Amino acid sequence: MMEPFHLIIGGKLVAGASTMPVINPATETSIVDCPRADEAQVNAAVAAAKAAFAGWAATPIADRRAALMKVADEMEARIDELARLLTSEQGKPLDKAMEEIGGSAFILRALASLHLVDKVVQDDENGRFVEQRYPLGVVAAIAPWNFPISLLAVKATPALLAGNTLVCKPAPTTPLASLRIGEIFNKYVPAGVFNMVTDANDLGGVLTAHPDVAKVSFTGSTATGRKVMASASSLLKRITLELGGNDAAIVLDDVEPKSAAKSLFEGAMVNSGQVCLAIKRAYVHESQYDAICDELEVLADLAVVDDGAKQGAQYGPLQNKAQYDKVREMIADAATVGKVHGGAALDRPGYFIRPTIVRDVPDDARIVREEQFGPVLPVLRYSDVADAIARANDTDQGLGGTVWATDKARALDVAGQLETGMVWINSHMNINPFIAMGGAKQSGMGQELGQAGLEEFTQRRLVFVPA
Ligand code: NAD
Repeated sequence: MMEPFHLIIGGKLVAGASTMPVINPATETSIVDCPRADEAQVNAAVAAAKAAFAGWAATPIADRRAALMKVADEMEARIDELARLLTSEQGKPLDKAMEEIGGSAFILRALASLHLVDKVVQDDENGRFVEQRYPLGVVAAIAPWNFPISLLAVKATPALLAGNTLVCKPAPTTPLASLRIGEIFNKYVPAGVFNMVTDANDLGGVLTAHPDVAKVSFTGSTATGRKVMASASSLLKRITLELGGNDAAIVLDDVEPKSAAKSLFEGAMVNSGQVCLAIKRAYVHESQYDAICDELEVLADLAVVDDGAKQGAQYGPLQNKAQYDKVREMIADAATVGKVHGGAALDRPGYFIRPTIVRDVPDDARIVREEQFGPVLPVLRYSDVADAIARANDTDQGLGGTVWATDKARALDVAGQLETGMVWINSHMNINPFIAMGGAKQSGMGQELGQAGLEEFTQRRLVFVPA
């Protein structure tokens, strides 16, 4: 029997105003009835965070850091239980869920080790300018369903280290592991410092519009990001937006096709393609096009797609029915304009879609223009690399990108022309918690991770001290 789940408000574990089922995407059955908050509970969570703010902000940063380190320790000690829970609601294979929980504990420790110290920015015969950082107040942290725990760690750790208090809201389809980890946070910080509410996709706007929320740290789709920005505008709230991507991979003509295909496949299909930074379009030189597409199709046929709880599963289901329907629709649309390989649903319950390769597809196809967020890779042909770069940049989004080449100098030249927040050469998703990242164009605003990510949860105060 699973221990019951609760909202976390003012240090207490409380029942929701109602309940909602959480569906296992590999079986389409309900895992458990999860608490669901109402507007009054969101308001109570914000009030509790507001009341706890002065005390937490005055707590020495070393004590705040020590509390966060204890959260990381307990997450690691309970990794089996937490990973199983994450697999059951998110769908990812158990080894990947273990990586997410263990990786989140690692991120937590890394981010909690950062410092906020006064900096002298100028010192001359007139006096000195000192830069100080102080916390903002109540932070709302809103996460999507693809990496619920990593994203919770990335937001909650710097927010709390800097002295803010929190109201977190996980995605409606993946609240369970977040609520358990929320209980761990709540255990090590004073009452009201860490609050968590869950919803059925109906309370995000209430939280972001709340007058006592000073900052919103949001990860999700670009469409919802726009709503967050609009609701923050009346009070000029601070916002950090990590939004959708349509990342291009540019494959130069000097690659070894088999190994390039393997890298592209892994970069596109990771987490069943449900990754903001997944490779979502590949531009391959015409001299390599057929060889790489053929190899991608072989890899798609070999992939083991199964319930993430089963040993040997490499790819789990799509996380929810809406996403499954959307990706199926995009594959059907791609089949009308290009050649689709794979893409079958499995003949069993669960939101499974086999890895899919789409070749000979035009640039204006939906699968190329829109973020698929699923296990489908469109492969586009080019003859001139300047043309490939222009096509890669021809999008409103600008999260990441990759360049694949034997000649690294050529790759660097291409990387330097991509309009994105990050580019990896001959590698993918090389993320370091000490290095800040953020999207360009409509992929976001602001930075997460690293010192810059921490400082986003603070107000800069410049003090002039005369000589
Ligand atoms: P989504 O925007 O639908 O939902 C994200 C969160 O916002 C959920 O918790 C949801 O309940 C909440 N929400 C819904 N309406 C809201 C409102 N009006 N105000 C405030 N919050 C509201 O996104 P999703 O479908 O859950 O996630 C997939 C998207 O997230 C993809 O576009 C993906 O690229 C993006 N993503 C981006 C990053 C990044 O770092 N850039 C990381 C992971 C995912």
